[in-house]
Amino acid sequence: MTHTAQPTASHFINGAYVEDTAGSEIACIYPASGAVVARLHSATPPLVEAALAAAKAAQPVWAAMSGTERGRILRRASDMIRERNEDLSRLETLDTGKPLQETLVADATSAADALEYFGGLAGSLTGEHIPLGGAGGDWAYTVREPLGVCVGIGAWNYPTQIACWKGAPALACGNTMVFKPSETTPLCALKIAEILHEAGAPAGVFNVVQGYGDVGATLVADDRVAKVSLTGSVPTGRKVYAAAAEGMKHVTMELGGKSPLIIFDDADLEDAVGGAVLGNFYSSGQVCSNGTRVFVQSGIREAFLTRLTERLKTVVMGDPLEEATNFGPMVSEAQMNIVLGYIDKGLEEGARLVTGGRRADLEGFFIEPTVFADVTDTMTIAREEIFGPVLSVFEFADEGEAVARANDTSFGLSAGVFTRDLTRAHRVIGQLEAGSCWINTYNLAPVEAPFGGSKLSGVGRENSKEAIYHYSQVKSVYVGMGPVDAPF
Ligand code: NDP
Repeated sequence: MTHTAQPTASHFINGAYVEDTAGSEIACIYPASGAVVARLHSATPPLVEAALAAAKAAQPVWAAMSGTERGRILRRASDMIRERNEDLSRLETLDTGKPLQETLVADATSAADALEYFGGLAGSLTGEHIPLGGAGGDWAYTVREPLGVCVGIGAWNYPTQIACWKGAPALACGNTMVFKPSETTPLCALKIAEILHEAGAPAGVFNVVQGYGDVGATLVADDRVAKVSLTGSVPTGRKVYAAAAEGMKHVTMELGGKSPLIIFDDADLEDAVGGAVLGNFYSSGQVCSNGTRVFVQSGIREAFLTRLTERLKTVVMGDPLEEATNFGPMVSEAQMNIVLGYIDKGLEEGARLVTGGRRADLEGFFIEPTVFADVTDTMTIAREEIFGPVLSVFEFADEGEAVARANDTSFGLSAGVFTRDLTRAHRVIGQLEAGSCWINTYNLAPVEAPFGGSKLSGVGRENSKEAIYHYSQVKSVYVGMGPVDAPF
């Protein structure tokens, strides 16, 4: 790869790029062509050890800095990311295949937002004074303390954003981090580590090691680790949560979903179609919070399908590095085959294919945006997370039915409602079992608002002030101000 933003080695440990070619090879493949754009190596045990040791040693030093000083470094890193947005976006596109049109506005920028937001909060993480009364005027106070060394493990769909959604709140609270990207998208987190270090984060504060699940498992099991934050699938979440429980470690689990998007007859049709497009085809459908079960009320169903099909005709598939392209490939050949398998299953089980449904006639791992209608609640495509550009339309008659069917899933990440009826919007959202919800829009996830799932979709919340509670713990100190009144 000749790109200027290319990381110079596989790992970033203790403030420097590190290589150990003894580690098994990780080929980074550009999904739009299948070409290998970088060759990296999985971290060998000595490198995993070095990363954990560096994070452990740096943590008290980092925590001893004032929150304002830590925040200044995070905000400096945020500014640097914004200045380098073009290069970082190109790298994200090479890593994931997502179109530059998206990555220029959604990835490095979102990472910068997280560093800016949590950098701003870092100086205000204080405790409480609790007056207790009594003769001497006893009182207690609380101190919000860091957890220690945190491990971040990322999925492949938003490699830059995930590194910062985990790293920014962790570092703001005075923790250090060892981050392991998905081996499918190893490049972007390295640039975040490099920039944080350049912005002034001491060596060891944010480390990146590459590897497959075994490296992740080694990190999670290590006694020096106080917290694990995973973005990934439910099966991986189960394993990581169980491993963390052994050491009574804190966890944040951002897992998969099969989220409902409910569109009532009175919805603005263009907005509802726009919401369904955002909730199914952005990042070629590889978004955990996607509203893949689109429940459309009978009266608007035909008009919705017609308009959705028309708008999907304007998709521009092709070279993701061309800014006109607005729809990229699947992240990998393996993911493409998984999605094509689900499309076959939909056809086999009797769903009606409205549009798409095939691998596109292009180099790379492209699948056409696909819409199924007449989907029933028991079909495989209605129950399992597909993680690709496949939208399923379900018809419903009334509100109670829509809510019951929307909740009939073991996932609980997200939900959305489109209606012009204000009271219905809030009544329905109030009944939906999901952590991150939208009314009359879909899939916006600003750093100011909490993000995360209920049920099998996860534990804990990322972003917003909520994230602070998941990267810190409270020490309570009782202060006796008078004589000690003991019974004997
Ligand atoms: P995986 O669950 O397969 O992997 C997630 C990460 O965990 C990878 O870095 C993986 O490494 C690592 N890992 C795998 N096994 C272990 C283990 N035993 N111990 C520690 N780490 C391990 O997910 P994908 O990368 O395939 O991502 C897609 C999934 O992520 C989807 O199901 C999606 O819903 C979910 N997701 C959730 C989001 C959310 O915020 N809720 C956001 C984005 C995605 P390796 O890849 O090297 O095996």
